[in-house]
Amino acid sequence: MYDKNNVFAKIIRDEIPSRRVYEDEFAVAFYDISPRAKTHILVVPRGEYTDIYDFTANAPSDIQTGFWRAVRNTVDAMNLRENFRIVANTGPGAGQSVFHFHVHIMCDERFKSDF
Ligand code: 5GP
Repeated sequence: MYDKNNVFAKIIRDEIPSRRVYEDEFAVAFYDISPRAKTHILVVPRGEYTDIYDFTANAPSDIQTGFWRAVRNTVDAMNLRENFRIVANTGPGAGQSVFHFHVHIMCDERFKSDF
């Protein structure tokens, strides 16, 4: 069940600070407080969804489209077009620790040799 007092809900409401890099009516993007890549950004929808499974089932299509457009706009705002990964940890078993849907955008030179 969605908890309105999760840390990302508080960031969206500006109750706790974040280093925002992009925002619009659908989503807010900000630096991860504990980066695991040279550039590590989180993008969160403004709506109340616990994870990607909840979001893709229950968010109206315009909200979903707006969210993914915001992800793309964040990539453009950060000039990451040539080299980025997106991760959506889903469930405690996969390491999800904040239960407000979010994607990690990570960019690191070393990714180029991972495949
Ligand atoms: P998850 O493990 O749920 O996929 O990712 C949650 C992410 O949120 C983690 O990478 C963690 O570092 C980040 N995080 C947790 N609390 C805060 C916070 O207060 N501010 C910011 N900017 N990031 C946070």
